[in-house]
Amino acid sequence: MTSRILVLGGGFAGLWSALAAARAREVFGADLEILLLNDTPWHSIRVRNYEADLSDTRVALDSVLTPVGVRRLQGKVTSIDVTSRTAACEANGALQRIGYDRLVFALGSRLARPPIPGLAEYGFDVDTYEAAMRLNAHIAKLPSGASTVLVVGGGLTGIEAAAEMPAKLRAAGIAAPRVILADHAPRIGSDMGDEAVPVIEEALQALGIERRGGVSVAAVDAGGATLQGGERIEAEAVVWCAGMRAHPLASAFPVERDRLGRLPVDPTLKIRGLAAEFAAGDVASFPIDGTHGCVMSCQHGRPMGRFAGHNAACDLLGRPMLPLSITWYTTILDLGSWGALYTEGWERKLVSSGARAKRTKELINRERIYPPRTGDRQAILDAAAPTVQTPPVKFG
Ligand SMILES: Cc1cc2nc3c(=O)[nH]c(=O)nc-3n(C[C@H](O)[C@H](O)[C@H](O)COP(=O)(O)OP(=O)(O)OC[C@H]3O[C@@H](n4cnc5c(N)ncnc54)[C@H](O)[C@@H]3O)c2cc1C
Repeated sequence: MTSRILVLGGGFAGLWSALAAARAREVFGADLEILLLNDTPWHSIRVRNYEADLSDTRVALDSVLTPVGVRRLQGKVTSIDVTSRTAACEANGALQRIGYDRLVFALGSRLARPPIPGLAEYGFDVDTYEAAMRLNAHIAKLPSGASTVLVVGGGLTGIEAAAEMPAKLRAAGIAAPRVILADHAPRIGSDMGDEAVPVIEEALQALGIERRGGVSVAAVDAGGATLQGGERIEAEAVVWCAGMRAHPLASAFPVERDRLGRLPVDPTLKIRGLAAEFAAGDVASFPIDGTHGCVMSCQHGRPMGRFAGHNAACDLLGRPMLPLSITWYTTILDLGSWGALYTEGWERKLVSSGARAKRTKELINRERIYPPRTGDRQAILDAAAPTVQTPPVKFG
């Protein structure tokens, strides 16, 4: 009987796992079924969800999977049982159980939503395409004149969402936009390191974004937010960007997870202590260069996916698996119409900022992280090779 590799998730890690498994099948001339299960028919370029125009941020999964013979099922994964090697999903209105010989778990992450009164009902976010579209539609309906948007969370996502906001509001006809970026930390952007913080502050200042460090939101409602201590911030939208957690189904695996809910994997991406299950992307964690833990990012999720898919096929075929090691780390942060910021290394040394860094960011967001979109079978298989790309280009 044909063996099956089941890939859960069609994001950066899942799509590239399935493509890499298809490549390995071709290279080794093996008889393998590769099945990808995702809740939508789309590969979402999730990192672009803070942008104003989301029209080109979804790639039809079939346009990449069909040319290389990967089957796709649309459905919502509801449980995983490693004992019987099955995953259950709701698909076509029915509950289906799907067996696997090797599994790649790649259901990604979700925005962390603390139980703050009103947040679930009134908060906006840019975590998914649907949520980002909802925010953009809300902004488009705001009355012209003065409008305030409060972005909560001064990490990378919050900074990008806030930096893009004045232009979004102006494009919606709001003459006097007010954007506030708030965080628990006293200094916005402090996670980005000593060299980057002054650049972020300069950009936010130039964009007219108010920084509110050292605040905690106590409640959210239709008219804004109330802070711990009682201060009120009136806002037409509160955009929640405060952290990500691994998909809750990571708890289906009988292993201890880290503080972000991620599964421990070895450098081949196999879940530690399990025989047939791999994990990649935001649901998995290991020291990516032997020392530093991998980061919830497409920067790490894509190569993790390629290695997980390749290794799942190799494991099944009795071939040696390849360990993943990435010796470089970069952060390229979009700072709206001001430009961007490019840092290198775990200590985040400043490489470039402003328009030069923005060129790098645009190349990443619009080209580098997309799968081939020509439908060319060989180009898709070649792109899925278990290799690590060189760092993003620096413009001099
Ligand atoms: C606004 C924003 C900006 C970001 N900027 C950057 C950046 O600049 N650089 C960077 O490296 N990273 C960035 N990230 C992080 C990056 O998007 C994630 O780390 C990355 O998407 C993780 O890839 P993944 O494949 O693990 O998960 P995802 O991309 O989230 O994919 C998970 C897939 O699983 C599907 N799925 C989920 N649940 C189910 C279910 N129950 N059943 C079936 N399917 C399901 C989803 O639809 C999705 O297709 C950003 C994230 C956001 C939100």
